[in-house]
Amino acid sequence: MGDRIDFRDGRWVVPDRPVIPFIEGDGTGPDIWRASRRVFDAVVEKVSRGKRRVEWLEVLAGEKAFQQTGNWLPEETLENIRRYRVAIKGPLTTPVGGGIRSLNVALRQLLDLYACIRPVRYFAGVPSPMREPEKLDVVVYRENTEDVYTGVEYAAGSPEATRLLVFLRDQFGAKIREGSALGIKPMSRFGSQRLVVKAIEYAIKARRPSVTLVHKGNIMKFTEGAFREWGYEVAKERFGDKTVSEAETTKGKGAAGRVVIKDRIADSMFQQVLLRPEEYSVIATPNLNGDYLSDACVAQIGGLGMAPGGNVGDGFAVFEATHGTAPKYAGLDKVNPGAVLLSGAMMFEELGWSDSADAIIRGLSGAIAARRVTYDLARQMPGATEVSTSQFAECIIDHV
Ligand code: NAP
Repeated sequence: MGDRIDFRDGRWVVPDRPVIPFIEGDGTGPDIWRASRRVFDAVVEKVSRGKRRVEWLEVLAGEKAFQQTGNWLPEETLENIRRYRVAIKGPLTTPVGGGIRSLNVALRQLLDLYACIRPVRYFAGVPSPMREPEKLDVVVYRENTEDVYTGVEYAAGSPEATRLLVFLRDQFGAKIREGSALGIKPMSRFGSQRLVVKAIEYAIKARRPSVTLVHKGNIMKFTEGAFREWGYEVAKERFGDKTVSEAETTKGKGAAGRVVIKDRIADSMFQQVLLRPEEYSVIATPNLNGDYLSDACVAQIGGLGMAPGGNVGDGFAVFEATHGTAPKYAGLDKVNPGAVLLSGAMMFEELGWSDSADAIIRGLSGAIAARRVTYDLARQMPGATEVSTSQFAECIIDHV
């Protein structure tokens, strides 16, 4: 029997036998989960010399939940994730047709998971479109609850859009074409600053050199521009002795071991990650910029097969691969478990089990360097041997 993870005074309190709920996922999810769990258990046992063990608790969502309970997202699943605070999930089928609540949205709202975190780093040997993919090593902190994603949007010609348009035109003199669709982009100091705080806290803890605020404030001055202002403001107020703005460092003071806070306009940032990737480390950005930028960064290091993610709030976190269920390969023991493995590494890192996180990354790097890889990598790596999902897991454990 395990114990619950707790969160006190802004810190995780993790027992040696934490209960962690998992959703194995649909399609190839069970293949990937089986292999990943095998790696997680072996790694934790090995690095802690048997002192620690995760007590996995299966919770249902997606097709498996529907078959067993008639509900795609049972209340019990949400309750268990809330009770145990930290969970990991495989990909879920998004059923076509309305009426089905998305797990990610439900969890984001229930647990206020306001930071979507995507670490992007290169593993030597993985095929990439870049000449020097190893130069990109960033962690993207994307705001997860505000911006144009709040769904305050009105269809062209609808009574709501028409009334709002008339109001904006008559009251504020706004020039908007007749019959336009309208969407609202709310961004608050509270929402922006708590995201930037998370990014800076991570940079300090992980000894990362900089946090870059990525915004489109040159055009959207009061939303994106405010994100930039609020970001610098909170860096100074909360982390004055541990951070320094880029402007100050260029005045000759140097960073002197402090985290440099800088900002870039979003369109320029897409060029920067291609042309000067080594200048960026942690990125903090509003929701829409983060959506585009994190996928663009992931493409540089070889794509979604190796892309983990985490949705994190205060005292709650859910980790997941960012790829889908790849249903045509379901049950074939064929696909790459790398993204779920790296999500697990993120989870262990977040909980303070950095030794386990490092060991997973070491094992994965070793297996790739030995060129014993799943089909997706093998087909692009000359001289590689294709192995199954479960063989890949064994190979990773051998390299820990
Ligand atoms: P997908 O499942 O990500 O698969 C697209 C292609 O990506 C696959 O055919 C495969 O490429 C490659 N791929 C994905 N995962 C891989 C892995 N682990 N190892 C190796 N290759 C992998 O995207 P989709 O076909 O658009 O979506 C399928 C279902 O997943 C949909 O129901 C969608 O809504 C859902 N989905 C869920 C999530 C989530 O839960 N987080 C995210 C995205 C999509 P090749 O064909 O070239 O081999």
